[in-house]
Amino acid sequence: MKRCDFAKCVIEDCSEYALFGADRCPICCGAYCYDHVDDPSNHICHTNPPSDYLFPYKSVVEDEIAEILEVLNFDAIVAEVEALRPGHRCIHVDRPENASHMEKLTGAYNFHLIIEYDDGLKWVMRIRRKQTSLQPEGALMMSHESEIATLKALYTAGIRVPRAYARPQDSKVSSHLLYFYQEFIEGLPTSVVLFNPACTETLRLAGEALIRNYAAWMIDLEKVTFDKVGSLFLTDIGTIHVGPHVERDRTILLDHPYLIGPYDTAKERWIAAIECRMKLILDKKEVSPSNELHAYLVMLEMRELVKGCPELDEVDRDTGELNGIIDWDWASLTCKAEAYAAPEYFRLEHSKMYSSQPTTKERYLIQAYEDLGRCDLANFVRRGRKYHWLHNTIFWFQWDVKEMNAARRAFLALPDVIEGEPQTNEDWREIMLRKFDGDAGLMVLKAQKRLNCHERPRLDQPVC
Ligand SMILES: [Zn+2]
Ligand SMILES: [Zn+2]
Repeated sequence: MKRCDFAKCVIEDCSEYALFGADRCPICCGAYCYDHVDDPSNHICHTNPPSDYLFPYKSVVEDEIAEILEVLNFDAIVAEVEALRPGHRCIHVDRPENASHMEKLTGAYNFHLIIEYDDGLKWVMRIRRKQTSLQPEGALMMSHESEIATLKALYTAGIRVPRAYARPQDSKVSSHLLYFYQEFIEGLPTSVVLFNPACTETLRLAGEALIRNYAAWMIDLEKVTFDKVGSLFLTDIGTIHVGPHVERDRTILLDHPYLIGPYDTAKERWIAAIECRMKLILDKKEVSPSNELHAYLVMLEMRELVKGCPELDEVDRDTGELNGIIDWDWASLTCKAEAYAAPEYFRLEHSKMYSSQPTTKERYLIQAYEDLGRCDLANFVRRGRKYHWLHNTIFWFQWDVKEMNAARRAFLALPDVIEGEPQTNEDWREIMLRKFDGDAGLMVLKAQKRLNCHERPRLDQPVC
């Protein structure tokens, strides 16, 4: 099996890593290094025949599934799950013949095989996908271990989560795969209930009920508290502790130990996340030459907004504890205000993409908390928009002028419409360049731009 690592630049004779925070080319789906990303004449969508394009992505998935199927020892799975649940016989393990069969059970980061016992109980075997995660083995291992530790901590505290079973030390299933078992949860994905375009009255009521259940579950989650900001890990003797912070979708450092933390406050965590990205931008490892100035200004602006946000310093006055677990796959501990902001997809109602006002789903959630006597948590939802923008800008590079204006308004509790906001990215950059004039990194980037002042080549679809 291929050793996993960060993505390399897809140009054959280039040995550089691909940029860490840049999107793939929308045409060939290739990831490129700093030197090769901006000039389309370098791209394989221009130099190679269409059959060589990496797009569609499907073939990458198929290759990875084929590799996994090849190394899985199904007899060993049966023996292993029977040993983990003494007294019960395993009567079924999904055994996909080929990749397309397995795809139904494939998420972005994990494959799942359903396992059934003679008493009807079902488990899933959750196998971490390595090739699409694009992280070195050591980093993937940490995020995998943290996921198991989080599930164990929550289950032990009596929170409704599936029970998890780590891979036994002497497992014969495969020496290469990262996996664990967990109880199978029946039901529909929340998206079916909350995002169905055919929103019938029945579905609307189901959506409201789901939000009420979510509120009750989140109140239950208050039982779980720790005194640091980071992610959960198991010690050698099986106790739970807060270790370094597992970053979403990536690592914060390019080299071992890949992660930083734990931190004392959520503010420290966010400042570290932003400053590591600033360093990677200056090292030419994060974004393309054409985006680096804008990206760096975004980081400066977000760092300032984070520094000025008192809520991110908050630790429970009575207990000295922080509270809340967010980001299910990449679970981490943070301040209560961030943890109890509405899930990010609650924001996505198209008429109000940039508004700080609660959406319909957020209003249901506010109502649900109030009905349960929790006005404090309802207020976290009302004030939660800033966390959505923090995640969108830092994790997903949504940093167009409209998004940056919305982020600033959300952090400073300003109304949706204010005078004098920049309307174009150029205007926004001008304002930021004046505001952060004198920053050492910015001076480096500005000097570079003067030396290297050429129009960004356009990436057009080649004529086939
Ligand atoms: Zn391309
Ligand atoms: Zn390259």
